[in-house]
Amino acid sequence: MLRCGSIRVDPTVPYGKRLDLTEAARQLTAADKKRITLPVFTYLIEHPKGLILVDTGWCRDISPDGVYDLKTASSVLPSRIAALFHPSVSKGMAIHEQLACMGIGPQDLDYVLLTHLDADHVSGLRHVHKAKHIVLLEYEYYWSCRTVYKTRQPRNLWIQYPMERPFYRGSSLGPNHWVIDLFGDESIQMVNVPGHTEGQAAIVIRNSGNVVLLAADAAFSPRNWKEMIVPGFGFAREWQMKSLRWIAEMAADPSCAAVLCSHDPDVTPDIIDI
Ligand SMILES: [Zn+2]
Repeated sequence: MLRCGSIRVDPTVPYGKRLDLTEAARQLTAADKKRITLPVFTYLIEHPKGLILVDTGWCRDISPDGVYDLKTASSVLPSRIAALFHPSVSKGMAIHEQLACMGIGPQDLDYVLLTHLDADHVSGLRHVHKAKHIVLLEYEYYWSCRTVYKTRQPRNLWIQYPMERPFYRGSSLGPNHWVIDLFGDESIQMVNVPGHTEGQAAIVIRNSGNVVLLAADAAFSPRNWKEMIVPGFGFAREWQMKSLRWIAEMAADPSCAAVLCSHDPDVTPDIIDI
């Protein structure tokens, strides 16, 4: 688990009410003292078939001095997104900086899997675009520029990089029964968890009968699925609930070693061995 920066947001982003334009405007202009700081996690999977990075966190350019500055962040992001997230990434914590500390260059990555196209998950792509494969679900790509999601998914962060864009296929797994089985052996599956965005993928990792679920932004912490509190950062509340119910089922399975959310403040970066 690699923490690649922070967001500082209104508390209703992780635990909120139905998002409409009024609520979005309120989240955008919330005073700093009312905001909470949440991590931005990425994940490096050491798999027999290669190194797999899940998401890319904030890029260094957003926060060259390691702190949040609206003017600097707005040189990379639309200013409304910078104002919503208050993005920062401490020195040494951008994805390429952490990988370099482990002796891993971008070209050593076999796969970069993008769970969805929100800026906090893809802005670091500029640092790792030389990976052998970058995978984004076609469904996420298609709807990103055609729906409300385009307001928070600036295309200039990712459109120039060559990506493989597979279609989901039917499966017994997931709230929507749509899955990409990366190696065809169920060891790494990208599972559609709609609600936060249309095409968002959670990642299910299996080995030796054990499972780890990377829930991306379908939940912000276990509180979401334990108390059925729908995150206030999504436009399809019914789908968000359906995805939360599936995560709760997965978390209750005795074979589940961990369910990790990209912005869970109670998680400390660690190594999970399965
Ligand atoms: Zn996010």
